[in-house]
Amino acid sequence: MSLPPNATIGILGGGQLGRMSALAAARLGYRTHVYAPEADQPAMQVATRHTVAGYTDEDALVEFGRAVDVVTFEFENVPSRTLDILGPLAPCHPSARVLAICQDRVAEKRFMAEAGIPTAPWEAIGSEADLRRALATIGLPAVLKTTRLGYDGRGQAVLRDTADVAPAWQRLAPRPLILEGFVPFTMELSAIVARGVDGATAVFDIAENRHLHHILDLTFAPARIPASVALAAQAHATRLAKALGLIGVAALELFLLPSGTLVGNEIAPRPHNSGHWTIEACGASQFEQHIRAVAGLPLASASRHHDAVMRNLVGPEGMARWPDLLSAPEIVGHLYGKAEPRPGRKMGHATRLLPHGSLAGLSDLEAVRGF
Ligand code: AMP
Repeated sequence: MSLPPNATIGILGGGQLGRMSALAAARLGYRTHVYAPEADQPAMQVATRHTVAGYTDEDALVEFGRAVDVVTFEFENVPSRTLDILGPLAPCHPSARVLAICQDRVAEKRFMAEAGIPTAPWEAIGSEADLRRALATIGLPAVLKTTRLGYDGRGQAVLRDTADVAPAWQRLAPRPLILEGFVPFTMELSAIVARGVDGATAVFDIAENRHLHHILDLTFAPARIPASVALAAQAHATRLAKALGLIGVAALELFLLPSGTLVGNEIAPRPHNSGHWTIEACGASQFEQHIRAVAGLPLASASRHHDAVMRNLVGPEGMARWPDLLSAPEIVGHLYGKAEPRPGRKMGHATRLLPHGSLAGLSDLEAVRGF
């Protein structure tokens, strides 16, 4: 059953993903209620209501759960206790099970393998002895990561030679860790898939992502890869969504090897930074698909009517680009309403639209001219 117009969608998390989800919800005639621990968050500025309270504040959560018709997330690292409290009060999409898998890199890797998505070789690490054993089988280079709460390169270390091992262990332990083989990728890709209450899926075209200082800098859509690779990446994402029993949107981050093989890296059970281009380049964005899915509406087509390049506006340098972006006719700018442009902070993004099919013929430099 779908939510009637004017129903309220509760969103846990107050960042830009929640902001753009709330804007999409408003367009579909829904109200939103944002719940996050800090005041004046980007999503709160555009929501119908908001609650400023911690993720384990039982009274505030009960009040929130009673005030909304469905709960969704823009931030997947909410404690499981939050969902235990909300579960009896309102349906949660995606489910607590999906969140539990995606919060833990070990569970995530196991799940990908079960869903038929190859991953780098990996070992769970609980002690220095585990690490030594894992290094003996996986070898160097390798990447040591915390299993939980890592993002934008935080909570991880690349081990290039044996001298890197002890400092990385000291920095990251005693948290539970995972050691992954280093993947010599030629490109980072992402596949964004939506799955509705009725089990229907819709997957966007594969995007090609470039990072700067571990933060997404540019996304090119569609990725400049052979059609067979794009189809394989889309098939992985669709299989994953079905295996998860996902209701909502998820992003599957993939590495492309020189051989053309795809290796799964991470799953984000929510709209993703590498899907912002869908706002302008598709009939329905990743945010609209997410809202449609959690509201029980039919999914829209994920087809793309333009090629696109998205650039994140990060920190003071990103904000310095803003005035010029506004005068470029083919560039659409978004700001998230954050007060201070601290270094490394995602302040907004801009999307350049290009005629359908034209991106493949452009160099990176040509594609980003004017940004
Ligand atoms: P993650 O937090 O897992 O998304 O990792 C952040 C970034 O680190 C990725 O986007 C890659 O550029 C790099 N990275 C992560 N894991 C690996 C790996 N196993 N091999 C090579 N590069 C990696």
